[in-house]
Formats: sequence, C-alpha cells, structure tokens
Amino acid sequence: MKIQSEIEALERLAALDAILAEVGEQLGVERGALEEKRERQQELEARIERDRGVMSDMERQRAESLQEMRQMTVQVDRSREKLARCRTEREANAVQRELEELRKLQRDREVEIQKLDALHDQAQADIAETEKQLAEIAGDLGSTEGAVTTKLAELEKIQTEKKKEREAVVKTVKPQMYRKYDMIRQRRGSGIAHTTDGKCSECHILLLPMMFQTLRRGESFDQCPSCLRIIYFKPPTAPSEDGDGEAETEA
Ligand SMILES: [Zn+2]
Repeated sequence: MKIQSEIEALERLAALDAILAEVGEQLGVERGALEEKRERQQELEARIERDRGVMSDMERQRAESLQEMRQMTVQVDRSREKLARCRTEREANAVQRELEELRKLQRDREVEIQKLDALHDQAQADIAETEKQLAEIAGDLGSTEGAVTTKLAELEKIQTEKKKEREAVVKTVKPQMYRKYDMIRQRRGSGIAHTTDGKCSECHILLLPMMFQTLRRGESFDQCPSCLRIIYFKPPTAPSEDGDGEAETEA
C-alpha cells in the first residue's frame, strides 16, 4: 500500500499529540491549584496588613480622644472653681451652662472611645481568624508543595521528551500534509480519522459511497466532509478499540 507509511507516521503523530494534550491539561490543573493557594495566601496576608493598619488608626484616634477628655477634666475643674467664685446668679448660670456643655462633650468622647474599643476588639478577632486561615494554607502548602513540584517536574519532563519525539515524527510527514493535520488538530483537538465501514471514526458521519470506495483502495487520503479530519481507510482485520463496529454493513 502506497500510503501505509504515511498513515503510520500520522498515527504516531496523533498518539503523541494525544499524550501531549493530556500532559498539558494535567500541568494546567496542577499549576492552577498551586497558584490558587499562593494567591489565597497573598490575599490573606494583605488582609491582615490592612486590618492592622485600621487598628493602629483606631488606637491613634482613641489616644486623641483620651487626651481631649483629660483637657476637658482640667476645664471642668477650672469651671467649678470659677463657679465657687461667682458673685451673681447671672454669672453662676453662665458657668453652669459652660459646665453642662463640657460634661456633654465628655460623655460624647466616652461613647466614642467605647465604640472604638468595640471596633478594635472586632478587628483583633478578624486578624486572629485570618491568621488561622493563613496558617492552614501555609500548612497545606508546606505538606503538598514538594509533592506538587515533583509532579510538575515529572510532567514537564514527559512533555519535553514527547515534544522531541514529535519533532522527529513531524520530519517523516510531508510538509503539506503536516500543515493540514496541525491546522485541523488545533481546531478539533485531533487531526486524523479513519473509516472501516463507511463512517468517519471521529464524527461518525456516513461518507458518500464514492468517497468511501476510493478510500478503500488504500491509495489516497481525503478529508472528512463533516469534521475535515484527514481520513483514510482502515481494514476491518484488527479488532477495533473504540467499538464503532467492523461489520461491513454497507457490503
Ligand atoms: Zn469526520
């Protein structure tokens, strides 16, 4: 058969491409999972830093409010002294109002400090929770990162080897045929199909009888009219693995 060696080269190429596709997919999954964990780690670290920033802002604000309260206490004492020295009722009333105003301001500051304390406690609890999550991820990464890195290295090694093998096989395929094969492979995931019983092994369309008869002579390739894969005739001798039937229904 004239095209037998070409068929074999294409089949070798297709087998290598199937392995490469699977290896590529596994690499993507493993890298993705690792990347996801690392991203989560960074995210949690950033959150802790942000919460710590918020906490120190609150601490500063609390210190300022406390300072203001102390100043008000001094003012209250002064007003009390002033009240004791008052000669007229009118003067005394004015100082009383001043005192009331000061006490109100003091109460406001107290409420503010209480609120800040509650928020501060909340932020502290949030940080503790985030730190717990971070420790879990770090532990997870610590125990799996080594194994994942080893697996990635193994997959990369297979990938390199198979790519090298592929390069050698590509040299045995006619350039024009290879270009056609690779274009279809990139679009469809695989580039070849065969027929034993008149149907395309990949898309299962029934080929036109004339096309099938020509293919059956085993002298030429064609392209499946539906999936466009390079198609050739495969005699029904070998047991078919994909179970698409060897019974020559059309005969
Ligand atoms: Zn097809």
